[in-house]
Amino acid sequence: MYLHGTSRINDKGHLEIGGCDVVDLAKEFGTPLYIVDEELVRRRAREYVQAFRETGLRFQVAYASKAFCVMAMCRVAEEEGMSLDVVSDGELYTALQAGFPAERIHFHGNNKTPEEIEMALAAGIGCFVVDNFTELALLNAIAAEHGKKVNVLLRVTPGVEAHTHDYISTGQQDSKFGFDIGNGTAYKAVEQALAQPQLKLLGVHSHIGSQIFEVEGFRMAVEKVAAFSIEVREKLGATFPVINLGGGFGIRYVEGDAPLPVSTYVKAITDAIITQFTAADYPLPEIWVEPGRSIVGDAGTTLYTVGTSKDIPGVRKYVAVDGGMTDNPRPALYGSKYEAVLANRANESLSELVSVAGKCCESGDMLIWDLKLPPVESGDLLAVFCTGAYNYAMASNYNRIRRPAVVFARDGQADLVVARESYENIVGNDLIPERLRKPAVAK
Ligand SMILES: *Cc1c(COP(=O)(O)O)cnc(C)c1O
Repeated sequence: MYLHGTSRINDKGHLEIGGCDVVDLAKEFGTPLYIVDEELVRRRAREYVQAFRETGLRFQVAYASKAFCVMAMCRVAEEEGMSLDVVSDGELYTALQAGFPAERIHFHGNNKTPEEIEMALAAGIGCFVVDNFTELALLNAIAAEHGKKVNVLLRVTPGVEAHTHDYISTGQQDSKFGFDIGNGTAYKAVEQALAQPQLKLLGVHSHIGSQIFEVEGFRMAVEKVAAFSIEVREKLGATFPVINLGGGFGIRYVEGDAPLPVSTYVKAITDAIITQFTAADYPLPEIWVEPGRSIVGDAGTTLYTVGTSKDIPGVRKYVAVDGGMTDNPRPALYGSKYEAVLANRANESLSELVSVAGKCCESGDMLIWDLKLPPVESGDLLAVFCTGAYNYAMASNYNRIRRPAVVFARDGQADLVVARESYENIVGNDLIPERLRKPAVAK
């Protein structure tokens, strides 16, 4: 069994996270429950910051908040010296409500609305990552209305494909994101950005994919982006003070996933930047990266209660838990794999092969196929590992299931950071028009 961060099996044979026995957490907070190992989140953040500090270069590590965006997480990100990426008004609002410093917020997205741009301008965020020509003109116009000058990066597609699932790779030419370097679109975008009086062009941004286990893709991306920067300086006389290499650093979900140490990714990127830019006598830019999954992914565990089971002799045994695709849609969306343990009997031998089903009305609602567990009984607790990223963030109310609570566990203390949704929350936005109201019954 592979245990992440501070997780361990205690002498009762229970899983413990952040010094908290998860059997106790289930009693106190109910299930399903997302448990975040706060110490591990902080450790991951420090690995990035530390690795960059050692290079002596100027840098920003921007946490890609879409992976897990709640106010307490924004607080941790700020405390650990990270910047923050947001992709929508909701994420921006969350960050601002948490008191995150606006000047360290970067706004991403391929379709920012005028309202979102207004909101971000009013807050005074640090940078817009501009994705397309429509946005370039819109941002300039709105900034002009408010008499503001705004920092921008241009998102470019360097034509580098990271080896990942098709649905989550974004670096290749055929992508909804960004300006393509290869066909000259990125160059045109730089020309236009330089011509917009309200925009201050800081540089370019590239994000080549997700769950990347090699440094080669980042190296290639740096080469393309450096060559592009050098071309821009030659032809347009502009130098970029910032280069952003995005996120996508891989984590270990299951056996066989072999992520590199954070410092290896950082060193590959910074070495490549130094080599490429120094060779052209180009002033070394500030380097930004945007880890999301690798900050929170392996720090998250989802705790479920086992309910029913269905044994089909000679086929398989299904074991159903009290959550599913509503709290973790990744297996259904991407075929993602997870590891899990029976959290209340973690020392018992694994004598049964089961498949873990969710409780939604959907055959695709499966969390894990073919998992070895001790003989499972109704009422047991199942802990699924590595659910910190893109789980709570992607959770839904399908079947009107209430979204689970989230706790941060650290040093034996568990703090609720998101309350479990209530029935009131479920119907909170529903309205019954007058003509559909039930007539009052006459007495
Ligand atoms: C999703 C995304 C990230 C974070 O990706 P991870 O795989 O979670 O590290 C960073 N930057 C951009 C632009 C993204 O779209």
